[in-house]
Amino acid sequence: MDEGKNIVHSDVVTAATKDALIRRGVKIQDIAKIVYELQVPYNKGLSLEQCIDSVESVLRKRELQHAILVGVELDEMAERGQLSQPLQQIVESDEGLFGVDETIALGAVYTYGSIAVTTFGHLDKNKVGIINELDTKKGIGIHTFLDDLVASVAACAASRIAHRTRDLQEAGLTFKDVQNGKGS
Ligand code: MG
Repeated sequence: MDEGKNIVHSDVVTAATKDALIRRGVKIQDIAKIVYELQVPYNKGLSLEQCIDSVESVLRKRELQHAILVGVELDEMAERGQLSQPLQQIVESDEGLFGVDETIALGAVYTYGSIAVTTFGHLDKNKVGIINELDTKKGIGIHTFLDDLVASVAACAASRIAHRTRDLQEAGLTFKDVQNGKGS
C-alpha cells in the first residue's frame, strides 16, 4: 500500500493558505507593514521587502497554514449562515467571551518562541493596520478568526526578524548590509 497516497502535498497547502488570505482581502504586504512597524525601531536598515520575505517564510509553516485554513473556513461558513446555532450567532457577533479564535491563532504562534507570543498579545490588544480593518465589529463581513490569524502571522514574522537581528549583530552586520549583499 502506498502510505503517502492520502497525504496532501505541502505545495497544495501553501497555495490554499495564500488563496484563503487573498480571498478574504489580506495581502502579504498588509501583514508585512505591521511587521515593519514593529521591528523598524530596533533595525534601522530594515526594509519592507525583508518583512515580506519573513511573512512568506512564516506562511510556509504547516502550523500557521492549518490554523489559517481552519479559521478562514469557519469565518466563511458563518458568512453563509452554515454553522449550527448557537455557534452561528456566537461567531457572527464575535462575542467577547468566545476565545477559540485567539486560542487557534496563539497555538500557531508558539513555533516562533516567546517573542512571538508576547507580540501576539500586543497585537491582539492594540489592533493595528489590516487587523483593525478586519475587526468584525468595525466592518462588513465576518472575520472573527481572521483578525487573530493575521496577528499570529505578523507576530511570528516579527519574531523571526528579532532573532535574525541578533545573529547579524553578532556578525557585525545589519539588515542594511544584508540588503546590500554583504554577509549573505
Ligand atoms: Mg477575533
